[in-house]
Formats: sequence, C-alpha cells, structure tokens
Amino acid sequence: MAEAKNLAAAKPARLTGVKGMNDVLPPDSARWEWLEAKVRDLMARYAYRNIRTPIVEPTALFVRGLGEVTDIVEKEMYSFEDRLNGEQLTLRPECTAGVVRAVAEHNLLYEGGKRLYYMGPMFRHERPQRGRYRQFHQIGAEVLGFAGAEVDAELILLADALWRELGLSDVRLELNSLGQPPERQAHRAALITHFERHADQLDEDARRRLHSNPLRILDTKNPAMKEIVESAPRLLDFLGEASLAHFNAVKAILEANGVAYRINPRLVRGMDYYNLTVFEFVTESLGAQGTICGGGRYDYLIEQVGGKPAPAVGWALGVERVLELVKEQGEAVAEPVPDAYAVIPDASALPLAMQLLQQLRAAGVSVQMHAGSGEGMGSMKSQFKKADASGARHALVFGADELASQCVTVKALRDGSGAQQTRPLAGVSEWAHSLQSKA
Ligand code: ATP
Ligand code: MG
Repeated sequence: MAEAKNLAAAKPARLTGVKGMNDVLPPDSARWEWLEAKVRDLMARYAYRNIRTPIVEPTALFVRGLGEVTDIVEKEMYSFEDRLNGEQLTLRPECTAGVVRAVAEHNLLYEGGKRLYYMGPMFRHERPQRGRYRQFHQIGAEVLGFAGAEVDAELILLADALWRELGLSDVRLELNSLGQPPERQAHRAALITHFERHADQLDEDARRRLHSNPLRILDTKNPAMKEIVESAPRLLDFLGEASLAHFNAVKAILEANGVAYRINPRLVRGMDYYNLTVFEFVTESLGAQGTICGGGRYDYLIEQVGGKPAPAVGWALGVERVLELVKEQGEAVAEPVPDAYAVIPDASALPLAMQLLQQLRAAGVSVQMHAGSGEGMGSMKSQFKKADASGARHALVFGADELASQCVTVKALRDGSGAQQTRPLAGVSEWAHSLQSKA
C-alpha cells in the first residue's frame, strides 16, 4: 500500500507545449496538407523550385539582413548561444535571409536567375493572440537574379492565383514603392523633420528610432500615432524617373490581368531590406491580424549578407492566417477517409490478411486495418462499429471460412445496399480498383 502511494507521488507532471506554439492535429491537419498540395501544384505551373534551408541560422544573418532597428531583431528573435561551441544562433524569424544566404553560399545564380519557394515554421517572440503565434508557418516565393518589373508582377499574379484556387474572395492587394537608397535618404530627412515637429506624439519606440530608422515609425501598430503617420511625407513623392517607371510597369501588368490594387503610401513592411515594389494582401475577415501575405523587392540584401550583388523579389504568406480564412470563406476541405476497413475476427488470420492489405495498398487502395487490444481482435460487432466510424466505404472481412477458400468478403458500408462480394486473394489487381472512390 505504501509502495503504491509512492508510485502515485512519483507520477511525472504533465508536460505541455510552449506558449504560442501550437500542435496541428487531425482533422485540422487535413486542411494543412490540402493547402500544401495546392501550393506545390501551383508553384510547378509557374516553374518555381523548392528550397529547404535550416531552421537555425547564425544570428548575424538576421541582424545584418533584416536590420538592427526592426521589431523582429530588437524584440522578437529566439537567439541563443550554442553551449558546445559558443556560436550565436537564432531560430529563423523569416526565411528570405536564409534563402539569400543559401543562394550566395552555393552560387546558385551562376547560370542565371532562380525562382524558388519554401514552406515551414518561423519563430518570433510576440504576444500570442488570434493570428499571431510564436511558432507560425510561412509559405514563401523568392525570385533572384532578375531586376525587371515583370517578376514583381509575376509574383503578385502567382499569389493572386493562389487565393482563387483556395476559394478566397475577400482579399485586397495594397501596393507601394520604397524607391532606391538615394530617394530614401531624401525622404528620411523630410521624415525626421516631420516627426521632430510632432515629437510630443511619438511613443517610446518611435523616439528611439527617430534618428536610427525613422521609416520604421511608419510601420507602427500604435493607434495613437495614426495621425502623425498619416500626415508624414510620402516616399512616393520622392521617387525619381526610373523608380516610377518600375512602379508603373508593375501596375500596368496587374491592370492588364485584372488584378485590382490600392496604392498605400504608408506601406513600408517590417524589414529594412526592401526597395522599389512592396505589397501586402489584406483581408477584413480576420480582425486585427488581417495581413495574410507580404513581400517586395530586395535588390541589396544578397550584397548585405556578403554575396555577389543580385536583384531579388519575393513574398511570404502566413499559413495560419490563410487557413483561418479558408475555414471562413474558402472551399470545404473533406477529411480523408479510407477506401476500406479490414475486419479480422481472429488473430490467426493476421499474417495472410496483412499480406493482402499490402498488395491492396501497393495497388493504390487506402486501407485501415483493425488493430486489437493485445488480448485478441475484439468481437465482429465492435470491429464493424470501428469500420463504420472510420468512414471507410467498404469492409474487408477476413473470416475463417473466407481464408479457408482463399477469399475475402467485401461488404459495402455506405451505399445503403449492404451488398457483399467474395473476392479471391490471388489476383488482387483484378478487383482492387473497385474499392477506390472515383475522385
Ligand atoms: P504583422 O504586421 O502582422 O506583424 P509582419 O509584417 O511582421 O506581420 P511578415 O514578416 O511580412 O509579417 O510575414 C509575412 C506574413 O507572415 C504576415 O503577413 C503574416 O500573415 C504572417 N505572420 C507574421 N508574423 C506572424 C505571427 N507571429 N504569427 C502568425 N503569422 C504571422
Ligand atoms: Mg510582425
């Protein structure tokens, strides 16, 4: 008795996941797989290739790439020192910097431009709320090595096509141009003058950034600063001829393709690496976290992280936000159901039955096998109950009589007929297709 008590006391406390980092469980995971399949298919049609970079990168990559005076680098990064060798490392808060590092490191542009896409988890230490998590997922597209406005437009058309394929309607495109570094310099001076004039209205972040990175102030989420941000000088008014021509070329292609956009002169994005075209896709349906995708041109980033200079442009979408929108207004995503459920009345039938199941699966049939408790397979009644709950369209019954005559019984579970057929164990390929749903 005393021993039992001790055992109870020693029961390990239940561990839970890290705050702001979520498990994706079935049936929801079906929607994730559905989205990923749609994206892979679409990317193939635009001739984009998959790239996979590590989740951990040197901290310096993000400090140099994203900019020291940004929300991400100042407040949101999971950075740590590798205990074993003292390296400064960071869980990637976004993937563009990693892609650029990989492209430079492996000299991927040696034979011309590259169109790439990725999917995966990102990490930012933010306050968790609807649409904002500490581990979240992005799908991104990056085009490197091309300077023309046509790839900016291609990327926007690609995202726009994705919304359509996901059945999303309430998504709006916002567009701006950040010009080139000399134009930014002139605008920066005007910005500082403007904000200095209204210094009393600046919050702490803005005061700190006033001289180090005043453009960041335009990206504030503080509603109290809305007015001075609204009245700030617009970068668009500082653009020279070449920048305007680039911007107009993007717009012309979008217009020809019937993609509506709204010019948002306050749109600056959260990282320092952007120039020329920047854009966001936003929705009214998700509350405060309404930006589902953002991107733009980043012609100086490769050089910034030590690579050979090359122009580039890309975007990233937030998977959780997009899926939330799919749930609300997109296609209904059906949970996958097996074609068949294998009912196995007696464990002695397992070796033969499982051999047949392997053949069926090799032939493309999806089969869920009944699994016992360790003390037997359970009654026929309980097995059929499980078959029913699985959603399978057929039951395969491996009874003693069937096996004695080298057969299996196929019973229809969903069409109301309850029809039964006897099928030979030999020559599975002759009848396997009859189990499959006609998708
Ligand atoms: P926000 O302004 O909402 O903080 P952001 O400008 O920081 O977004 P980006 O770095 O441009 O976001 O990332 C692209 C997309 O990734 C965003 O539009 C959003 O959909 C998604 N995203 C960014 N941060 C998070 C997060 N913490 N949780 C969930 N999704 C996120
Ligand atoms: Mg953010």
